[in-house]
Amino acid sequence: MRLSRYFLPVLKETPAEAQIVSHRLMLRAGMIKQSSAGIYSWLPLGYRVLQRIEQIVHEEQQRAGHIPMLMPTLQPADLWRESGRYDAYGPEMLRIRDRQDRDMLYGPTNEEMITDIVRSNISSYKDLPLTLYHIQWKFRDEMRPRFGVMRGREFLMKDGYNFDLTKEDALHAYNRHLVSYLRTYERMGLQAIPMRADSGPIGGEDTHEFLVLAETGESEVFYDSAVTDLTFGDREIDYDSVEQCQSILKEFTSRYARTDETHDEAVFAEIPEERRRTARGIEVGQIFYFGTKYSEPMGATVQGPDGKPVPLHMGSHGIGVSRLLGAIIEANHDDKGIIWPEGVTPFHVGLVDLKPGDATTGSACEGIYAELAKASLSVLYDDTKERPGAKFATMDLIGLPWRITVGPRGLANGKVELTSRRTGESVEMSPEGAIRRLREVYAAHR
Ligand code: ATP
Ligand code: MG
Repeated sequence: MRLSRYFLPVLKETPAEAQIVSHRLMLRAGMIKQSSAGIYSWLPLGYRVLQRIEQIVHEEQQRAGHIPMLMPTLQPADLWRESGRYDAYGPEMLRIRDRQDRDMLYGPTNEEMITDIVRSNISSYKDLPLTLYHIQWKFRDEMRPRFGVMRGREFLMKDGYNFDLTKEDALHAYNRHLVSYLRTYERMGLQAIPMRADSGPIGGEDTHEFLVLAETGESEVFYDSAVTDLTFGDREIDYDSVEQCQSILKEFTSRYARTDETHDEAVFAEIPEERRRTARGIEVGQIFYFGTKYSEPMGATVQGPDGKPVPLHMGSHGIGVSRLLGAIIEANHDDKGIIWPEGVTPFHVGLVDLKPGDATTGSACEGIYAELAKASLSVLYDDTKERPGAKFATMDLIGLPWRITVGPRGLANGKVELTSRRTGESVEMSPEGAIRRLREVYAAHR
């Protein structure tokens, strides 16, 4: 993409309305524009990151054997009357009446709708296990939308639902989700710690929230610092293996890590003092097992092996896709701007022509631009007439992890500069060498 033809409305001034750094940087980098409280347009740069995050979520869900689909945003109230949640949900639910005077709502979550789909189409235990998911916009009329996409009213969520014959099978689905989530967040360059949580309006017996530690987080968390040493890495997972999923769950949840809702001072006090931590965290996902809470009232049963009807055991599992942009920026920035982890960066590399209008730098840039495309590396090519200082400031603000700088002095020796946004280190190398380096770096993020 040539910057001269792109739409990147960066702001020079720090917007006054933004209280936290991720919100400020998303506005300054021209990623989002507020349309009304808690509702945003995703401008091209923000949209690219959102799509990267969605892509990783899709890949990891499907790796775990979960099936993608898409349900509508608008739902009939009658479904929610069946579960009893139409009255229970409260003012966070946006209620709408259509021209036929039918009560509708903009879905805050989809347990009822997916239960209806499954009950209408599945009748035998032989059709199980089944996990369906979608990535769809949700609406919750939050009392205090704030912090940009972090607490929006309209926000993008991945929500998945498992249907199983027994509690045991459903708990395997729960464990499988926990494992796939660990992998998902790590691919985005985030450490998200599973913490015992409270089930809230979804209801249920078992639940973990995934929290990214950050000063600006809305949740108070308590943990044993040993949990922060755990990494998932590139281990091979057999998602059908009950033992393997269980042992990973154990590994990642046996140390104390809880939100304030489930915090227990007495248990916390047993951790050696030097490992006791109180901090703040951003909730980027949550998994629930809730048994037959929806299947019983909604009559979602299958014929079991003995021919008798059995209510389905269910769970639901959410990832805050749009909130993740904020969380990633909170965890990856400096005073110049964003520092995207390679896994989610909107462009793999920035290309800067230091002397626009000059025939040598121009043709070198064109050559590199074409070679990067051949190597399937996405590039934002600053071919504008701006001064070098302004170009660097924009590149630093939007946070591409790598930058190739092309200037007349280096070119005289056949060299360009490859710069890491994270370390600030620059290395002079041939254009081919720089492209080879980038191919190697990104091979690990595909
Ligand atoms: P919170 O406690 O932050 O209000 P929640 O527990 O009500 O969230 P869930 O029902 O667990 O939310 O939804 C799954 C995920 O969706 C959350 O973990 C969070 O990452 C994201 N999410 C929830 N509400 C919002 C919101 N208002 N704006 C952006 N993302 C949200
Ligand atoms: Mg939650």
